[in-house]
Amino acid sequence: MVSADPGSGGQANPAGSAGSASPPPVAYQTDAPNAYRWTEVAYDYLLNGKLTASIRSASGISTATVTGTCPYCTDDVKFSQVLDVVTGEAMTTLGWRRTESVQADDDYVPLTVSCACTEAHAGRPDGVKYGCGINFRVEVQPEA
Ligand SMILES: [Zn+2]
Ligand SMILES: [Zn+2]
Repeated sequence: MVSADPGSGGQANPAGSAGSASPPPVAYQTDAPNAYRWTEVAYDYLLNGKLTASIRSASGISTATVTGTCPYCTDDVKFSQVLDVVTGEAMTTLGWRRTESVQADDDYVPLTVSCACTEAHAGRPDGVKYGCGINFRVEVQPEA
């Protein structure tokens, strides 16, 4: 004889607030900080204009700037990076090291962008003051 379930499916529903006006804050990304999906989303955002990447040169110094919606946390990524000098002149300074070589391949410069938003994200490591933890790739065409 099989006894029927007495219907004890009491579901706990703690403080079921229906307020969904703003999305919950995302936690600092540690599982997949370099996942390719960030690059895919960033590419989408670049096409949509939600993300802007540019490289400007002044006095022989190129600075890459990426601003707009972060593929993960949706804050402003506020990324900027000084690139290696890419003029024809040889860099003769002793001790100069090439940290990230910039190749003029089809004029597009590949960048690894780290989110540098200023919003708070739970789980951000000590010593890290900004960002949500992700990195993504973009290819930027320098201006002139
Ligand atoms: Zn953020
Ligand atoms: Zn972010």
